[in-house]
Amino acid sequence: MGIIQEQISSACCHTDAYNDDMVRKVDCLVIGSGIAGLSYALKAASYGRVCVITKNSIEETNTRYAQGGIASVMYPPDSFEKHIRDTIRCGDGYCNEKIVEMVVKEAPDRINDLLKWGVEFDKRENGNFDLAKEGGHSSHRILHHKDYTGLTIHSTLIKQVKSTKNIEILEDHFAIDLITQHQLGDPVVRGQKDIHCYGAYALDLHTRAVDTLLSKVTIIATGGTGNLYHTTTNPPIATGDGIAMVYRAKGIIENMEFVQFHPTSLYHPGERPSFLITEAIRGFGGTLKSIDGEEFMAKYDSRGSLAPRDIVARAIDNEMKIHGDDFVYLDCTHLDAEALQENFPNVYQKCLSIGIDITKEMIPVVPAAHYLCGGIKVNEHGQSSIERLYAIGEAASTGLHGANRLASNSLIEAIVFAHRAVADVKNQLAGITFNEEVPEWDYGGTTHPEEMILITQSYKEMQQIMSNYVGIVRSDLRLQRALARLDIIYSETEELYKKSTLSRKLCELRNLINVGHLTIRMAQNLRESRGLHYTIDYPKKRTGSEF
Ligand SMILES: Cc1cc2nc3c(=O)[nH]c(=O)nc-3n(C[C@H](O)[C@H](O)[C@H](O)COP(=O)(O)OP(=O)(O)OC[C@H]3O[C@@H](n4cnc5c(N)ncnc54)[C@H](O)[C@@H]3O)c2cc1C
Repeated sequence: MGIIQEQISSACCHTDAYNDDMVRKVDCLVIGSGIAGLSYALKAASYGRVCVITKNSIEETNTRYAQGGIASVMYPPDSFEKHIRDTIRCGDGYCNEKIVEMVVKEAPDRINDLLKWGVEFDKRENGNFDLAKEGGHSSHRILHHKDYTGLTIHSTLIKQVKSTKNIEILEDHFAIDLITQHQLGDPVVRGQKDIHCYGAYALDLHTRAVDTLLSKVTIIATGGTGNLYHTTTNPPIATGDGIAMVYRAKGIIENMEFVQFHPTSLYHPGERPSFLITEAIRGFGGTLKSIDGEEFMAKYDSRGSLAPRDIVARAIDNEMKIHGDDFVYLDCTHLDAEALQENFPNVYQKCLSIGIDITKEMIPVVPAAHYLCGGIKVNEHGQSSIERLYAIGEAASTGLHGANRLASNSLIEAIVFAHRAVADVKNQLAGITFNEEVPEWDYGGTTHPEEMILITQSYKEMQQIMSNYVGIVRSDLRLQRALARLDIIYSETEELYKKSTLSRKLCELRNLINVGHLTIRMAQNLRESRGLHYTIDYPKKRTGSEF
C-alpha cells in the first residue's frame, strides 16, 4: 500500500489567452459513461447541470460486458451478515469492515433504484427474483438478466440519461488531465490537504482541440486497467486513465497490486477482449478439467470449481505450467442441455460461433486480467484526497474489496457510491464557485505528428512486461525486472508525449505506464502473499505480530 515516490511528471500547462469556444462550465463533470458515471448523472441531475464525457461512444464500457449479475441480499435464508462475512473472507483481511457493512446494507435500496429506472432482472414463476450463486458466496444472491446483466442495466441507464433534462453527454471526448492549482502556477505535493480540482482538460477526438471543462465537482468514473495485460476480458477503453490523472494531480492511490484475473475466459487466440465464460456456469455445475480430462480443483480447495477466483486462477495457472498446456477445459457436457442454453444464451451462442457446442464439447478456457480492486483512495462518500474530486466505480478504492473482490460485488459498489457521492455534494453545489483563472491548454511544442508505430510497439511491450512479470504469480526478481523494463518505455513515452500532437492512443499508453508503475511498486512493497497478490518469495500471509 503506501504512497509511491514521485516519478511520474505532471502535465505541462501554462496560462494562455481564453478561447471561449473551448471553455464549458458545468456543476458536475462526470468522466465516464459506465454504471458508475450514468447512475451518478441520473441522481445529480436533480441538483444541477451535469456533463458526462466519454472517450468513445456512450455504450463502450466494462459495464456492458458484465454477465453474471449484481449482488444483493433479497430473501431469507440469505442475510446481511452472510453477505458481509463472504465479502470480508474473500478480501483476505484487507477490507474496510465499516464500508462492507454499509454497501451490503444499502444494496437493496440501490437495486430498487435500478428497478424504478426500468431494469428487468430474471424472475421465477412465483414472482421472486431468480437469484444465482457464484464462487465465494454462501447464498443465492446474484440478480441477473440471463447472462447479459451488464448490457441490460447499461441500456436502461442510457435510455434514462438521454431523456433526463440537465444532462449533457459528450462522446469522443478524452479527459487528459485534471485541473488543480498546479495549472495556476501553485506547486502541489502529494498528501497536501488543500488540493482543489477545478475541472479537467479534454481532447475532442473529432476536432483535436482541447476543451477546458470547468466544474464545481468532478467525478472520476473511468473504470479499470485491464489493458495493462495482453489477455483481458476488458474492452480497449480500460486503460486506467482516471487513476493516472489523479496520480499526476497528486491524489492518493492505493492497493494497485490487487489485480483480479478471471479464471475462465474463452481460449481463442487473437481475439480481444477475451470473451468471459461467466462464473455462474460453475455455479450451475460446470467443472474444470485438464486437457486429459482430469478434474483438478479438489487438489487445491475443498470448494472445488466454486472456490474464490484467486484460488481457481492460480490453480489453472499451475495446471497449465505443470502440463505445458495453453488452456484447461470447462466441462458442461453433463448438464441439462436445454437449461444450459436457456440460462447462458450469450455464452452458448459465442462458443457456437467458433464451432464449440457447449452442450456436447468442453470449453477451452484461460485466466485473463479482469478487475482492479485498488485505485483512487476514497472515503465513504466517494471523495478522493483532492477537494471537489470524487471517484466511483472500478477506478475507486473504497475498501469494499480488500485484497480480492467477491464476484458481482462491483456493479453494486458502483451504484452505492454514486448515490452516496451525490448525497454528499447536493447541498454544497450552490456554495461552490467556478475558478475563472484556469488557463487554457497549452499546445506549446506538441507539433510533431504522432508516430503510431512507436506507440503501438511500446503498448505491446508494456503488456508483455506486465503479463510475464506482474501476472498471477510474482517474485522479487520478476517485479524488479518489470520495473527496469517499464522505466525504459516510460522515458521514451514521456519524450514522445512532450513533442507529439495529442492522440488518444498516446495518452492511453502514457496512462497505462503510469498505472503499471504503481502496480509494480505496490506489489514490491507487499512482502507477503495475500488475496490476489501471490509471490513465490513470500508465499505466506503475514500474521498480526509481523506487521
Ligand atoms: C467481461 C466482464 C464481466 C463482468 N461481470 C461482472 C458481473 O457479473 N458483476 C459485477 O459486479 N461486475 C462484473 N464485471 C466488472 C464490472 O463490469 C465493472 O467493474 C463495472 O462495470 C465498472 O463500471 P464503471 O462505471 O466503473 O466503469 P466502466 O463501465 O468501465 O466505464 C468506464 C467509462 O469511462 C470512460 N473513460 C475511461 N477513460 C476515459 C477518459 N480518459 N476520458 C473520457 N472517458 C473515459 C470509458 O469510455 C467508459 O465510458 C465484469 C467486467 C467484465 C469486463
